Amino acid sequence: MKEDCIFCKIVNGKIPSMKVYEDDVCLAYLDINPDSDGHTLIIPKKHYTDIYELPKEVLQHIFDVAKTLMNDLKGKLNCTGYTLMINYGSSQEVKHFHLHIKPQYEDKKFVEFIKHKELLKDTKEVHEIIKGA
Ligand code: 5GP
Ligand code: ZN
Repeated sequence: MKEDCIFCKIVNGKIPSMKVYEDDVCLAYLDINPDSDGHTLIIPKKHYTDIYELPKEVLQHIFDVAKTLMNDLKGKLNCTGYTLMINYGSSQEVKHFHLHIKPQYEDKKFVEFIKHKELLKDTKEVHEIIKGA
């Protein structure tokens, strides 16, 4: 836990977030300034600054969760594809490792942000899929 880190504050509940998925190791929530509808960030709960600090087993777990979420959200968002993104160095604004999952839409239609809540409110099944894996 790093005192001045906004993503650590999201982990411990000091800053609110729209959670999509959570387990002992990681947390997924909607990006506050989305590039597309359903733009999600997955972070380790423990503070690691960047991809070089992140242990490979945590990276593996984050990618496993990403693949499950991509599969689960596809039907809810009606997206046609995804872009996964990791920023580093001067490209990385928040210095707590995170993986971006950006849904893509063939027609590039952008639904209002408020709609995310509706689309993503029932994420129980996602928890179950991942915990059972
Ligand atoms: P990066 O560090 O990869 O450049 O991007 C950081 C991302 O975190 C941005 O897409 C930004 O919108 C998002 N972000 C920054 N602060 C917050 C926050 O307090 N809550 C949420 N949900 N997202 C945030
Ligand atoms: Zn942090």
